[in-house]
This record gives sequence, C-alpha cells and structure tokens, in this order.
Amino acid sequence: MSKRRLPDNLSIDTLAIRAAELRTDEMSHSEALFLTSSFVYESAAQAAARFSGTEPGNIYSRFSNPTVRAFEERLASLEGAQQCVAFASGMAAINAVFMAHLKPGDHIVSSRSLFGTTQVLYDKYLSKFGIEVTLVDIADLAQWRAALRPQTKFLFVETPSNPLAEVADIKALADIGHSVGAKLIVDNCFCTPALQRPLELGADIIIHSATKYLDGQGRCLGGAALGRSEDMAEVYSYLRTTGATLSAFNAWVFLKGLETLTLRMKAHSANALALASWLQQQPGVQQVHYAGLADNRYHDLAARQQSAFGGVLSFTVVDSAGQGDRQAAWRFIDATELVSITANLGDVKSTITHPASTTHGRLAEQEKQRTGISENLIRLAVGLEGIEDIKADMRRGLVALGFSQ
Ligand SMILES: *Cc1c(COP(=O)(O)O)cnc(C)c1O
Repeated sequence: MSKRRLPDNLSIDTLAIRAAELRTDEMSHSEALFLTSSFVYESAAQAAARFSGTEPGNIYSRFSNPTVRAFEERLASLEGAQQCVAFASGMAAINAVFMAHLKPGDHIVSSRSLFGTTQVLYDKYLSKFGIEVTLVDIADLAQWRAALRPQTKFLFVETPSNPLAEVADIKALADIGHSVGAKLIVDNCFCTPALQRPLELGADIIIHSATKYLDGQGRCLGGAALGRSEDMAEVYSYLRTTGATLSAFNAWVFLKGLETLTLRMKAHSANALALASWLQQQPGVQQVHYAGLADNRYHDLAARQQSAFGGVLSFTVVDSAGQGDRQAAWRFIDATELVSITANLGDVKSTITHPASTTHGRLAEQEKQRTGISENLIRLAVGLEGIEDIKADMRRGLVALGFSQ
C-alpha cells in the first residue's frame, strides 16, 4: 500500500480526484479496496504494540481501515478540516457528535427546518438523556440569540434547508454561538464542499450524509463528521466503541463519487436554476422555493456564502379550479413519466417527493404549518438528465392539473 505526496495549493477540483490516493503494492491506479474485517501482524509483539498504540497501523475495520481512511482524508481536504470521522450513515454521524459531546442538562439550539429524522432524534432520544433542544426559525438571528442558555453547547443548522431551501447566515450563527462558548454544527449535505465550506465561515463541525451528493448515484449509505482534531477525538472514540462504521466497500464507492463531485454540483445547480426559472412562469405553479432565483429572499446571502445554488428546489401547485391541496400535488407527481418518485436526493437521476406525506409525514400538523410544509408542496431534486426532458415531465404534471400546454 502506498500514498503519493501531492504538490501544494491544489484546487478543490484536483483535490476531489487526487487527495488521499491509495494504491496497492501492485500499484493499482484506482483506489485500493481493503475488504477485510481485520489485519494480521508479523508477531505477537507487533500485535501488542498495535493494540497499545505504540505502533501505528490497522487493527480491525470497526475503527481502522485504509479505504475508509482514504475517504476521510479526501473529504477532510475538500472541507479544509483537520479531521474527518466516517460513519455508516448521516444519522449515525449526527448522533455520534451529540453522544460524544453532550451530557444530561446540556442544551442545543437548532433550526426548525430540518431533515425529519434529525427532529425525531431530538424528540425521542436526546430528550431521554435530559438534553433539551430549542427550535428557532432558520433566518431569524434574534430568535437564535434569545434561545441561548448557559447550558447551550451546540447550535445546529442545515443550510440550505430541506425542502424550502431557506438559507442560514453561517458566519453570523458562528459568532452568536461563540459568544456563549457554544459550537456551530452545519449539516452541509445539500451544498457539499464543492459549493459551500462552512469551516471557512466560522463553523466548528460539519455533518455529511454521504448517501446524497458525495456518492451522487444513489448507491450507498454513509456519513461523516468533520472538524478540529480536538473535537473529533471523542467522536472517533464513540465510533470505535459503538460501531456505526462505514463499510470499506461504501467508502470506495464514495471515493469514486468524489472524483466527479465538483463537476456534478455545477451541473445540478445549472439544471435546477433553469428549471426554477421556467417553473416560475407556469400557470399552476404558485411559488417556487430556490435561492438561485433573483427575487428569492435568501438570494443575496446564498450568493455570498455559496458558489452556486445547488440542485434541490420545491414548489407549490394548484389545479385549474384553484385547488391547492394534497390531491393536486399527488396528481402532478403521478403524471410524471421520467423523474423517479422517491425520497432520496443527490442522485444524477431527478427525484420527486411529496414532503407532507413522506419525509416530513411524522411531523405534527402544527409543526408542518410552522415549517411551511404545505399539502400542495412538491420537492424536486434536479438530476443531470437533459433539461428539456425534465421540463417536458413537469409539463405532464401541469396537464394533469388541467392546464393545457
Ligand atoms: C439524508 C440526510 C441526512 C441523513 O443521512 P442518512 O445518510 O440518510 O442517514 C441528514 N441530513 C440531511 C440534510 C439529509 O438530507
């Protein structure tokens, strides 16, 4: 196994392809896949030295595997992080950061617009351990400030949010958190480091669901937490002890996915912007949520902290009789013939979702209303198919709502 030393100051496009190259002794060009549960030693003494930590080296793939390590190092180089710890899923990464760093009585301030399962983690599990969460509106800095307590350890935000594409001011939130000694966690799943680097804006910890754009083709589950070495040491220890480990095979798939990440994110963003502008002009489309649109309330902020606007948008529909309800949304979705009806996103294949009955279906009615998850809202994760073909599919949805095209 060998690693090359690379020239300094490489661009993110190059790092996505070249950082942490990993070759077998036979000098494979593609990254080596170490599909093995454990590693052998030359002697009993070497085994003892590895276990005691006096000799570096691999022991057991629950906590050390060269392919997983290569994925961690490549992602860390893209985010500009000292340390990355990979996990079996994005949720495992989020849970590990909380479990590693929080104790009963601690407090989190979090944006209200969230990946649904993160919300369940707060309500059902963190609460069991006496960890309290205050939910605030993502863009209202006064609410974030007012929610702070002496016990606040973390601010948690997902930006842009899912599915309404609201944007948080990362630098402002980092300053608010740091003023009371709390750390800012950013779930960077929607932008990826190709479009947004939260650590450079002052965030302390980054979360990824590698399942989404890092893979990019909807094949594997995985996740990661990134940040300073001192913050990641406990997270790694928690992983080693509790075992939500990323499989080496999935890490290898993600290494391949990262190689096209910067190109894909540009292409996703271009397709999404073209589609959002087009949707805005269609009868039957009430409102389009996408920060790339010049009249979106988050446009300037997103343009400042992101290099493009990403691939996810959402919109509300009404039928030709003016009804904007669940039935209208489902009729639109069921009339599509190209895009996939699925809750996943970050795939080269476009996916269409009805958040109110799927990803956000577990939210109470009042929470749905507060977060703007209306019954006629449709989320589209715009893929890399030809843009005219995606538009034609959206037209089928509009025809089903009674609009002739
Ligand atoms: C999917 C997702 C997660 C959870 O990741 P899994 O890999 O499915 O566990 C967390 N945050 C966001 C924003 C996501 O989209």
